Amino acid sequence: MKGIVYKSTGSWYTVKAEDGKFYNCRIKGKFRIKGIKNTNPVAVGDYVEFDLEENIDEVIGVIKHIEERENYIIRKSVNLSKQTHIIAANIDVAFLLVTLNNPPTFTTFIDRFLVTAEAYGIKAVLLFNKVDAYSQEEKDEILYLMAMYREIGYTCIPISAKSGKNIDKVKELMIDNTSLFSGHSGVGKSTLINQLEPSLDLKTSAISEQHLQGQHTTTFAEMFDLSFHARIIDTPGIKGFGIVEIEKEELGDYFPEFLERKSECKFNNCLHVEEPKCAIKEALDEDEISWSRYKSYLQMLEGEDEHYRVDIYKE
Ligand code: GDP
Ligand code: ZN
Repeated sequence: MKGIVYKSTGSWYTVKAEDGKFYNCRIKGKFRIKGIKNTNPVAVGDYVEFDLEENIDEVIGVIKHIEERENYIIRKSVNLSKQTHIIAANIDVAFLLVTLNNPPTFTTFIDRFLVTAEAYGIKAVLLFNKVDAYSQEEKDEILYLMAMYREIGYTCIPISAKSGKNIDKVKELMIDNTSLFSGHSGVGKSTLINQLEPSLDLKTSAISEQHLQGQHTTTFAEMFDLSFHARIIDTPGIKGFGIVEIEKEELGDYFPEFLERKSECKFNNCLHVEEPKCAIKEALDEDEISWSRYKSYLQMLEGEDEHYRVDIYKE
């Protein structure tokens, strides 16, 4: 039988089969992924094949094959074991909720998210939430940011999770897709999900608060079907995507407005920092590339904030 993994506890997997039924599955034998030491071979979002086996008191599925993943996001442990936990696989759209304040979302955080999504081919969408609560000055700032990111090619939607403004536009992007919502604690993820599907009660918010209290929690992602033919992956405790293992020379390729111009740099391995005749720096001088994006680029190049631990990998 074929199905998709909706939930995983590490040893048991809940798989929704093509017949629409859920089966408890486990794995037999070893599944290994090239190059990484992972703690869970099967992840939420995986397409699998399984056989039904009759147990003494129940029927269980045994997963025998995992289809190749489009992409997957992982969390790396910070201790010496360097083990990798695959959070979710086969994500179509990653939404980032952004607020100007309560809490503030910095452009460096947005850019890191975009670079990571870009590197692994996941469509990223920016949702500027809480538009009902902003002053005119703040609205102008949102408009400025949206213009900046739209110019690069990203979809930006101003929304109010509270009032429901533009929620239909978010739904439109979710139909027939598997989506994931990220953003700092307090940006409105739970409120938005509640707007999208009032009967769903996700853990997103509660778990992030536990993290703030410094408690160690082992959390697992879970996938849900929404009533408008969309799937959502709840990733408790995960605010965004962090440092990806990207070579310095490669980083600029995940800034679309850099990539588009880099063939005009004098050196083909140009890092766009000190090199002469750099098309990126020329575009900066002419205000064709924004300083805020360039600043994020430099920060990522130097690999500063190590506290982000979530990466995306593509096979
Ligand atoms: P989460 O941590 O990302 O899940 O954020 P929550 O959904 O728990 O929202 C945090 C706070 O922001 C709550 O007090 C919400 O009522 C509020 N909030 C969420 N969305 C909006 C919005 O669109 N407008 C306003 N004014 N407040 C919002
Ligand atoms: Zn250059």
